[in-house]
Amino acid sequence: MKVLVADDSATSRQMLRSVLAKWGYEVVLAENGAEAWDILADADPPPMAILDWVMPHLSGPEVCRRVRDTHREPYTYILLLTSKNTKGETVEGLEAGADDYIVKPFDQHELQVRLRAGKRIIDLQMDLLEAREELRERANKDLLTMLPNRSAIWTVLRQEISRCHRDNRTVGVILLDIDHFKRINDSYGHFAGDTVLRETAMRLRSNMRPYDQVGRYGGEEFLVVLPNCDLEQASHQAERMRHRLEETCISLEGIEITISASFGVTVSDGSEKDPDVFVRVADEALYRAKATGRNCVSRLTLEESTHWHPC
Ligand code: GH3
Ligand code: MG
Ligand code: MG
Repeated sequence: MKVLVADDSATSRQMLRSVLAKWGYEVVLAENGAEAWDILADADPPPMAILDWVMPHLSGPEVCRRVRDTHREPYTYILLLTSKNTKGETVEGLEAGADDYIVKPFDQHELQVRLRAGKRIIDLQMDLLEAREELRERANKDLLTMLPNRSAIWTVLRQEISRCHRDNRTVGVILLDIDHFKRINDSYGHFAGDTVLRETAMRLRSNMRPYDQVGRYGGEEFLVVLPNCDLEQASHQAERMRHRLEETCISLEGIEITISASFGVTVSDGSEKDPDVFVRVADEALYRAKATGRNCVSRLTLEESTHWHPC
């Protein structure tokens, strides 16, 4: 684990550097408070810091206060080094946001165990942050296809519509639905159905530009968001995806399953900002594709749709 040692005394710095290295810490040195603050405010700062109380430019408690004011994550565990051993000063150090303090001249073993206590806290919070990150990821992911789930792709659509609205660009929206998917489940079982959904997700994803996004919108429905695409380009993209899905069958335990999907395409042109409207228009286009015989792409603008109610 990285530890910042900030002390204006070269002797003290070297002494701390050698004992900390001996205990397995990776030491980062600062010669004054301003340097310490620069390191702690930078990207990927050391999770623990030992700050001398009296230093040029910024004192240890001042650095502490600045660090705490940023409310940044992950947390920095701060240990103040002080030759001040009065109650009032100790309280002042802790009030500045230090987690612990140690009085100079200090006993090496005491410093070692106090650092160990700090490391335990940092390790614990790293575990918590990782767990939170994993929960966040799970909350946004469809665990069958590993694509963004309905709420995540919805958020993407909302963000892209407002971004493109600001920049005066259009966003292509595709809603697609696997044809007669129920028959696949009925003929080959639910497990085969799941495999088809996973394979569909993979084919869709591998057929997109890096900044396009696809999510699982419902059972066998997928929503594709294409920033900076007009209706023509979005329809082309849908046609490419349609072709990619039907061109090769999916092999599963000796069975060859042929699939196809119907596509509804629309575009957000800046006049309307509600993502819900565009999904409904794409759904109307999808309904038309189904009605026209499936395995095809149908496009519809907001103005052509029954969802357009100009005021
Ligand atoms: P259409 O061409 O009109 O879209 O017909 P369809 O059979 O695809 O549509 P329908 O809505 O009748 O059936 C969809 C089926 O998808 C019903 C449901 O059981 C199945 N399904 C939904 N989610 C899953 C899933 O996660 N796994 C599997 N295996 N099946 C699912
Ligand atoms: Mg279907
Ligand atoms: Mg459906």
